[in-house]
Amino acid sequence: MHMKSTIQCESTNPAASAAQPSRAEAIAAVRTLIRWAGDDPDREGLLETPDRVIRAYAEYFSGYRQDPTEILAKTFSEVDGYDEMIVMNDIRFESHCEHHMAPIIGCVHIGYLPDRRVVGISKLARLVEIYARRLQIQEKMTVQIADTLAEVLQPNGVAVVVEAAHQCMTTRGVHKPGATLVTSRMLGAFRKDATTRREFLAIIGRNGSGMPAHA
Ligand SMILES: [Zn+2]
Repeated sequence: MHMKSTIQCESTNPAASAAQPSRAEAIAAVRTLIRWAGDDPDREGLLETPDRVIRAYAEYFSGYRQDPTEILAKTFSEVDGYDEMIVMNDIRFESHCEHHMAPIIGCVHIGYLPDRRVVGISKLARLVEIYARRLQIQEKMTVQIADTLAEVLQPNGVAVVVEAAHQCMTTRGVHKPGATLVTSRMLGAFRKDATTRREFLAIIGRNGSGMPAHA
């Protein structure tokens, strides 16, 4: 049993190497977009908008400045022999698609089969948040969450299911409100053992009935 804990954050955090523009540059960019939309950034109602937008961006994209490995590093080893499935259901997230920068809103279900190491449940929610608060595609986010958990905890298996509505699809383009995208990644026992996988899917209620993803 080797406890390798090297996670390559460079590949998951491309912004780390990109120089951040100045505040003034960011504000000018928002003013340009307002003009592109056809409005006047100097009219009274819009004067404070660029500043609000860049502050909102700092929140939407705060995941670039956080290290998921560090968040998960504090594990609890004493589990008194607990080796059953641990599932955290319905972790709501808000992200932005990297193609249109439009919101992706949905929920993540995470399951794992611990091998001596477990994490506090709030850490799972933080893990989701760190990856969600970046420009994303849902498929990539699903893989990132599962693979980070697998690498840090070295469990016997990891299962991640993400169901989300993409506003680039619901409010523009093909206009398909209510359509959700479901992605999943199964590792270890969840991939190899159909019974384990079925148990997880039953716990998270993946039987086609509605989840609150597209509220
Ligand atoms: Zn999109």
